[in-house]
Amino acid sequence: MEAIAVVGGSLAGLRAVEALRAEGFAGRLTWIGAEPHLPYERPPLSKGFLTGARNAADLALKHAPFESLNIEMHLGVRAVGLDLADRTVALDNGDWVGFDGLVVATGATPRRLPDQPPVDGVYVLRTLDDAAVLRTALEGDPHVVIIGGGFIGAEVAASCRARGITRVTVLEGAAVPMERAIGPAIGAELAALHRDHGVDLRCGCGVQAITHDRGRVTGVTLVDGTTVDADVVLVAIGVVPETGWLTDSGLPIGNGVECDATLLAAPGVVACGDIASWPHPIFDNERMRLEHWTNAVEQGVAAAKRLLWNVAEPAPAFATIPFVWSDQYDVKIQVVGRVSGDMEMQLACGSLAERNFVALFGRSGRVFGALGFSQARRIVQAQGLIGARTSMAEAVATLAR
Ligand code: NAP
Repeated sequence: MEAIAVVGGSLAGLRAVEALRAEGFAGRLTWIGAEPHLPYERPPLSKGFLTGARNAADLALKHAPFESLNIEMHLGVRAVGLDLADRTVALDNGDWVGFDGLVVATGATPRRLPDQPPVDGVYVLRTLDDAAVLRTALEGDPHVVIIGGGFIGAEVAASCRARGITRVTVLEGAAVPMERAIGPAIGAELAALHRDHGVDLRCGCGVQAITHDRGRVTGVTLVDGTTVDADVVLVAIGVVPETGWLTDSGLPIGNGVECDATLLAAPGVVACGDIASWPHPIFDNERMRLEHWTNAVEQGVAAAKRLLWNVAEPAPAFATIPFVWSDQYDVKIQVVGRVSGDMEMQLACGSLAERNFVALFGRSGRVFGALGFSQARRIVQAQGLIGARTSMAEAVATLAR
């Protein structure tokens, strides 16, 4: 390969660029990122950055010196098309970039509500610019209404309370927050955690519309006819993979870019980070697409190695056991492996009510995942048990010791 293009200027793209050079690729390396900023840490955007504990200057991601990487960098430029036959990426400034090898790392973009009005006071949170606007809007003591009780909803609610904001309302569609992701029992404990910290969490809420007057938000109307007044509304109802520029490219697109188990999407094309879906060998080859930090780091490196793979034996599958964390109030929530509300769940140690436990998730008697509240050591242990395809019974016995 003489020329490689990496499209996506965040964590997965950065780690891919570094790994390509570290693995010895000496040809032309072009890196394209839609945001005008160098890559930065996203996890603090819903936590320390919002509370004011951290500022933009503190969020720069550590990286190998760019001079030593010798890259052609296009920041603030969006890829708008891919021609696989011509081996070119079209850019929104009218230019195009040629490649022999391509890394797709364009991530995901926030979902919006149908008919979400483009008025002041209504926000989404994904980028540093989004977070800066939201942080300003949180000054004073506004009534903050958050639609969606997932990762962003929960973390922003906790940050608002940490800032001393009096009225923080979370509107969640399910019976408890994250019910589909983690099941009703732990979801109920999350709900209690937020209510104990003064959040007005309302579950089972269908949002009808965001109301506004003279270009400014006034509230949220629910399907039962209730209206919740609001000065600030954050829509945090998940993300969609950023695949628009790949439409008609011939790459397999479903829920993201559908790669094989080695992260290859087409000859000479790999994907990594939030946009990549791949069959995971440890979890019965079910397709996964992960929207978290650790995955972006590990897949960026793995995708780069896969692109450069040039030996006779087959490339290895990407089989890392996923790891996710979320800090909410004084609880460190950690998840490893595959966890879903429709799996069998067993408490391995501790107690939900004391907010100090590890719960295991599994199928057909085998452990697939673990979720812990403030149990870092056992979560690392659980990660090993999941990778070793341990039975639920044995995993419970090991963690209970
Ligand atoms: P998310 O974690 O997927 O949560 C979205 C939540 O909104 C879900 O509970 C969802 O319920 C609910 N919802 C969906 N439509 C709704 C509606 N119309 N009204 C009310 N609730 C609705 O997504 P997110 O919180 O927006 O976060 C965005 C991305 O950032 C995700 O990829 C997330 O993983 C990532 N992130 C990760 C971390 C971390 O790793 N600590 C922190 C922040 C953000 P259903 O599931 O029932 O649809």
